[in-house]
Parts: sequence; structure tokens; C-alpha cells
Amino acid sequence: MIGHEKTFYSWGGKVTSGSHGEELVWRGDPLPAGARPRLAHGLGRSYGDSCLLNDGCIVETQRMDHLIAFDSATGVVRCEAGCTLAKLLEFCVPRGWFIPVSPGTKFVTMGGCVANDVHGKNHHRAGSFGCFVTRFGLRRSDGAERECSPENHADLFRATIGGLGLTGIILWVEVRLKPIRSPFIRQRTEPLRGINAFFEVARREEAHFDYSVAWLDATHAGTPRGVFIAGNHAEENHAPHFPRSSPRCSVPLTLPDFVLGAWSIGLMNAGYYAANALHWGESRVGYDGFFYPLDAVAHWNRAYGKKGLAQYQFVVPMEFGPEALRETLGKAQAARQASFLTVVKLFGAIPSPGLLSFPRPGVTVCFDFPHLGASTERLLDDLDRTVFACGGALYPAKDARMSRESFERSFPRHREFKELIDPACSSNFARRTGLTA
Ligand SMILES: Cc1cc2nc3c(=O)[nH]c(=O)nc-3n(C[C@H](O)[C@H](O)[C@H](O)COP(=O)(O)OP(=O)(O)OC[C@H]3O[C@@H](n4cnc5c(N)ncnc54)[C@H](O)[C@@H]3O)c2cc1C
Repeated sequence: MIGHEKTFYSWGGKVTSGSHGEELVWRGDPLPAGARPRLAHGLGRSYGDSCLLNDGCIVETQRMDHLIAFDSATGVVRCEAGCTLAKLLEFCVPRGWFIPVSPGTKFVTMGGCVANDVHGKNHHRAGSFGCFVTRFGLRRSDGAERECSPENHADLFRATIGGLGLTGIILWVEVRLKPIRSPFIRQRTEPLRGINAFFEVARREEAHFDYSVAWLDATHAGTPRGVFIAGNHAEENHAPHFPRSSPRCSVPLTLPDFVLGAWSIGLMNAGYYAANALHWGESRVGYDGFFYPLDAVAHWNRAYGKKGLAQYQFVVPMEFGPEALRETLGKAQAARQASFLTVVKLFGAIPSPGLLSFPRPGVTVCFDFPHLGASTERLLDDLDRTVFACGGALYPAKDARMSRESFERSFPRHREFKELIDPACSSNFARRTGLTA
């Protein structure tokens, strides 16, 4: 491997300093030698600093992206860890299979999906990504490759799912895909008025839909409003669907900070609500538009300006859901911080094998605020108070500020996990939260 000095970015705009990058191209390639700590990096779609490491060696995996094996009878697929969901979808959808759990972008790697144990719109029915991982190859700093599964190296299997890249480098991943009959989704949308409406509609519709999520207009003063969006894979095979293989357009450069201000965010939220409130009901949409609407615009994070964006995602137990949602929306409005995209979803009870998995039964809420500096930090500290008073947890994939105390409260099995960290691995997130030195 040929290394080079390089700056790495996360999606929220955090950067590394003093890092050295080395690319893995083939899963047989040796890992970088030397005493510097190391961390795997997929496509950097994590918002905070869990995919970043200062003064260390970052192992880039995106060129190690081959499909290795596929069983068309069972839908079990094995691919290298740098393979993206986009590439896997191009392969499996025409063959009648779908990714079992997908985050809101297809530009993520399989390794990243395992390391964050990502969740999708179907958590209430399916659980998290880790529930579908049958085995993976893990190279630790002793140089040996271990095949990890629920039966083999089971401790490393559990620690690596949601293990934030700290247990070694994942070389390949095997997952069980989901059979589908059509690349289309039967989508249902419904406008929401009030916090209780979200809980009523979500509980009612979850019995009927595999996928569901709600978008809220967090900028709207008065009764909260939003749109509930649910869907199932269509039963009939319609005309072929040609998903976008690349984004439709791009934000070419980082925009000035004022462009995405409170007024423009308010305006866009009002427009989105109005459009959906007028045209709600059932429709048939391609899977790309249903799962990955944000992927249509490349580098959309640049619209947030130089300071980037602060995503904040938490989960609280169901009984505290309405209170936590009401209070956090109220605090964001009182602080005059506009969230561009506020998403709410009920998590189900299917447990993940991962020791540090974030999804758990309850309600998850995700805000994204343009980062305004100290005032945004103060707001996030205030939101923490609500989340922890409700017995909740924060999501590391979205985080760049969680304290050690907040991390340990969010992940009660942190001690068990710490025993399984590869001594050569670290990240800025791990240093901040006391997982590594
Ligand atoms: C638009 C958008 C929507 C999103 N929606 C969701 C969502 O709905 N649900 C959700 O859960 N997340 C969501 N995310 C977050 C994203 O899915 C996760 O952060 C994902 O893990 C990023 O994958 P990546 O390949 O970019 O990995 P990176 O961000 O590069 O890395 C993530 C972690 O994985 C580790 N890692 C990567 N590759 C390997 C490897 N080969 N071996 C060991 N460790 C590795 C890294 O060290 C790091 O800790 C979203 C992100 C964006 C930008």
C-alpha cells in the first residue's frame, strides 16, 4: 500500500489533522505497519468524528469494493467491505432482492453499515443492519484474519457490529438480502398536525407498512406539523425502474453561511409541508426516490456553509416519546435554531447482536442544524438534558461532541466492548469518550 498525507472529512464538516492515508485495494493487502494508531474509513458519511482520526493512519476502504459471492436461492451475498449499497443495489434489484436495512443514503460502504449498525425506515419490522449480517472477515493488528459469525469468534462478532471501527478492519461482509417482486414502492403519505397525531398515525400504520418515518417542520410556531411517509415493496412487477447511478445535480462549492439561515430553512420547510398537505394519499414510486431522496443532490452538505452542520439524533423509551419530542422542538425554537430536516421514527423491539448498537425500543428523533458555533453547542447541551432525563441515548454516527459520561450512559455495555478493542485502533470519537487513549 502506498500511503500519503491527507485530510479526511466527515459529512458534517469535521476534518482531520496530521493524518496519513493508506488505501486497501484488495482484501489480502497487509495492513499498514508502524506504531501510529489506525482507523478504517468508508465514504465518510458519518456526520461527526467517529470516522476520523488525528495524527494516525486512516485506512481507506472504498476501492476494496468487489462482490465476492451470491446465492440466488437464499439471497445471501458476500462482498468486500468497501462495496457501496449503491453498487449492491445495482446488482441485486434486477435479480429480485433488496438490501434488508438501508440508511437514508446509498453512498455508504458495507463496512460502515456494520460498524455503525445502521438502521432504516423498517426498524419496527426488521431491526438493524446487524440483524442480517451472517458473517464477516476481520483483520486485527496481529495480522490474522478471523471469520466472525454468531458461532465463530462470537465476542468479536458482537463487538464489531456497531463497534465504530475499533475492533479491527472489516475485509468482507456477508448479509441476507430480502426478496422483492418489484423495484417500486407503494407509498402512503399523510399530513400530521400535533405531536400526538404522529404517535397515533405511526402506531396505526406500522401494522400495515414495512417502512415508515415522519418528517416534522421544526420551524413552525404553534401546533407542530409534518408528514407521515410509509411504504411497502410493490407486489406487481411494473415497468423496469432505472435508479439514478449518480446524483442529478451538485452543490459545487461551500456556500456562504447566510444562505441556509433560519428564514430560508423556514421557507423550505413550509413549502415541503404545503406540497405534501395538498397531495397526500397513495402513490407508486421508484425505490430510489423513496429511500434516497437526498442522494439526488451531490455534496448537499456544502449548503450549510463553512461551519458545517450539527446532526443530533437521540432515542428515548416510548413512554417518554411525546414529552421528549415536545421539549426538544420547543428548545430548538426558543434558541432560534432552525433544523432543516427533522425526522421522527418509532424503533421496534428486535434486538441487535451488537454490543454498542444504538437502536433500541422507543422513539428516535433526528435534527440537523446549521452549526452556528457556541449558540448551537449550548442548544445541544440543553437537548442532552432532556434526552438523559428521559433515559435516552445519543447516536455516535451523528455525533462530534458526546462526552465520556454521555457515551457511557448511552451504551451500558461499554466495559464489555472495551475489552475487545484492537489495541492499534482509535478515532477522535473514541479518544473523546475514553474508549481509547
Ligand atoms: C444523507 C444521510 C442519511 C443517513 N441516514 C441514516 C439512517 O437513516 N440511519 C443510519 O443509521 N445512519 C444514517 N446515516 C449515517 C450513515 O449511514 C453512517 O454513518 C454510515 O456508517 C456511513 O458509512 P460510510 O461507509 O460512509 O462509513 P464512514 O462514515 O467512513 O465510517 C463509519 C464508521 O465505520 C467504520 N468503518 C468503515 N469501514 C470499515 C471497515 N472496513 N472496517 C471497520 N470499520 C469500518 C469507521 O471507522 C467509522 O467508525 C446517514 C448519513 C447520510 C449522509
